[in-house]
Amino acid sequence: MSLQFIREEGLDIPVALDVDVVVCGGGAAGIGAALGAARAGAKTVLIERNSFLGGVATATIMPIFLMDLEHVNGFTKELITEIIRRGRAWSGTVLNFDPEAYKQVALELLCDAGVEFLFNTFVSRPIMEAGVIKGVIVENKSGRLAIMGKVVIDTTGDADVAYRAGVPCTFGRESDHKIRPLTINFRIGNVDFSKVVEYATQRPEEFSPDPLAQVLEMDKKCLRITGFFELVEQARQRNELDKDCHYIRFEGVDVDNGVTTVNNVRVYDLDPTNGFDLTRAEIAGRKQVELLFKFIKKYIPGCENAFLIDTSANIGVRESRRILGDYILNEQDILNEKKVPDSIALIYRRHIPGQEMHNPDRQEGSSTDHWARTLYKKLFSFQVPYRSFFPKQVENLLVVGRSMSQDHQADTWTRGMYCLIVLGQAAGILASIAARNNIKARELNVQNYRDQLYRQNILIE
Ligand SMILES: Cc1cc2nc3c(=O)[nH]c(=O)nc-3n(C[C@H](O)[C@H](O)[C@H](O)COP(=O)(O)OP(=O)(O)OC[C@H]3O[C@@H](n4cnc5c(N)ncnc54)[C@H](O)[C@@H]3O)c2cc1C
Repeated sequence: MSLQFIREEGLDIPVALDVDVVVCGGGAAGIGAALGAARAGAKTVLIERNSFLGGVATATIMPIFLMDLEHVNGFTKELITEIIRRGRAWSGTVLNFDPEAYKQVALELLCDAGVEFLFNTFVSRPIMEAGVIKGVIVENKSGRLAIMGKVVIDTTGDADVAYRAGVPCTFGRESDHKIRPLTINFRIGNVDFSKVVEYATQRPEEFSPDPLAQVLEMDKKCLRITGFFELVEQARQRNELDKDCHYIRFEGVDVDNGVTTVNNVRVYDLDPTNGFDLTRAEIAGRKQVELLFKFIKKYIPGCENAFLIDTSANIGVRESRRILGDYILNEQDILNEKKVPDSIALIYRRHIPGQEMHNPDRQEGSSTDHWARTLYKKLFSFQVPYRSFFPKQVENLLVVGRSMSQDHQADTWTRGMYCLIVLGQAAGILASIAARNNIKARELNVQNYRDQLYRQNILIE
């Protein structure tokens, strides 16, 4: 970093909006938060740097929820049910959806709820007054603007607002601060999935035995394919694939149109909260896309005539900063299904023993990687405490999504988008109550407001 500085002249920044709840970031947690707040009666604005909603689901073309329809609740269920009704999502052991339909339906439902939007707008810093957040400064084509709000919800994924408010944060795995890999996803079309499925069915040893990673439900048009281990290993030895690539995964499959997302780019050891590292990651990721696409076309049966449709607008970030909050949710709480007095949501997951999903150590999918080669054990559920949204030192700021207060391993279980939509929604409802009653959000006794969460179909216990 340069040691030289340029001093910025003092600016009078126009106040463009003054609302009850400001939601910063329109990914999984952000769409839940904005919808929850607006439906609970708050004047709500959602600010997003892209021109569309969805975050990783759309900007990183990651169109799959790793849960069945029966075990999702709240806005997740409403959103996916509407996309299924429009014939653009497919339900089976997992839920596949068309990311374009996701963008559209999420936007329509949030508009119907009365949410205001500011797209193509970057949230650059919080407006603070004596330890209380009063709004945020944003930048867009209009220049620099102030957006004032009684409660601010940081759903940027990287805790951008909280970090700039001086909230203490951790980064990545506690032991060494390494993070899960960054990924540019891409979509291919004109794949003959009947051939791919035939190949996979004839060679089960070549694919993951985990029924959540290997879903071959052609009758339901629900596919997720993980493996081609031997083909990949051979190509890796020939330097036809990146050295960290150990398997191929097709997911979010649209069987009828022969379309799938390929989730295999892995970029390690770069910091997505550093603008230069993020740029290096985008460049490194694109090199891998080229190799992967060539490999798939050349070696995977059913993909001979495939073409590249698109690559993700933003490289996908699985992990970066997390705030140190009033309560740090940990893996043991989750696996022990610990009951918490301030539960704001009950989340279902499937348990894979000893799982380290997307290991920061570059072994993902290799023969030594437990995760890619084991069976899931059981369906279980866990509660999420309201305290895990609250950064220390700052009032009326909630941080929800992957950067909330939890440890590296807890994130394995909370990171599913179907989970974060509901956590966002619960945070939005409670933020709305705090804003409209002029109560500090941290001081709400959640038990008194459970009916409001139930009213929006959120399970708590
Ligand atoms: C490659 C990849 C594959 C994954 N696979 C799956 C999967 O199969 N199923 C699953 O459920 N989960 C999956 N996950 C995990 C899941 O996608 C994430 O945990 C989840 O999206 C995190 O949600 P979020 O709302 O915290 O952040 P995000 O979804 O990242 O949303 C953050 C939003 O904030 C916006 N933003 C960021 N900074 C600013 C700023 N300063 N100003 C304005 N806007 C800003 C971003 O543009 C984005 O829209 C995957 C993640 C990745 C990266």
